[in-house]
Amino acid sequence: NTFADIDLGGSLNDNIKNRCKYVKPTPIQRHAIPVALAGRDLMACAQTGSGKTAAFCFPIICGVLKIQSPVPYGRREMVSYPLALILSPTRELCCQIFEEAKKFCHQTGVKVAVAYGGAPIQHQLRSFEKGVDILVATPGRLTDMIERSRVSLKKIKHLALDEADRMLDMGFEPQIRKIVECLDMPPPGQRQTMLFSATFPSEIQRLASDFLSNYIFLSV
Ligand code: AMP
Repeated sequence: NTFADIDLGGSLNDNIKNRCKYVKPTPIQRHAIPVALAGRDLMACAQTGSGKTAAFCFPIICGVLKIQSPVPYGRREMVSYPLALILSPTRELCCQIFEEAKKFCHQTGVKVAVAYGGAPIQHQLRSFEKGVDILVATPGRLTDMIERSRVSLKKIKHLALDEADRMLDMGFEPQIRKIVECLDMPPPGQRQTMLFSATFPSEIQRLASDFLSNYIFLSV
């Protein structure tokens, strides 16, 4: 019933305890983290404030630590190949997730970057040059970066869609579907997809059946 019981590994455990000061997992974390660590796809109905950011970030960070291929020191990459992608509807939400994810990743070696519209793209692209393991993005800005061949999704092993119902309300469904098509189609079970939504209407059910395979459904 504590994070020590879940055991997410050295640096992440330290960050949870000392930087975030989380002691007990919230209900969504208690249920989602073990399922996601086991590699399963996930459809989770959870509200803002439930602790869902950590629920999808912790398993993603653990996954990235297993496969991370660090960019050699001094090498600058023109095309970024993130290993994990977190899509979120707004710039505000992207920034919140980015700030939390940076805290979680402190001294783990996992590099997090953020991309959202309404700010200069060149500045964001420059921040990618040291390497991007986890990219937090809005669908529009990410699409732009893919079209400019500055981001490739061919190495994505973990995909999280946060506030999926809001993304659909904002009209992002065509872009989200295109983004998912950019992911390499790995053998079943190779890529992990997690869908988070406050509500579970028929449009979200359709996304879940299109994007997830053999998924676990959680509602808190
Ligand atoms: P979220 O639902 O992800 O936006 O999180 C809501 C707030 O709860 C954020 O400020 C988190 O830092 C905080 N939080 C998340 N998980 C925990 C936890 N296990 N213990 C205490 N606070 C938490």
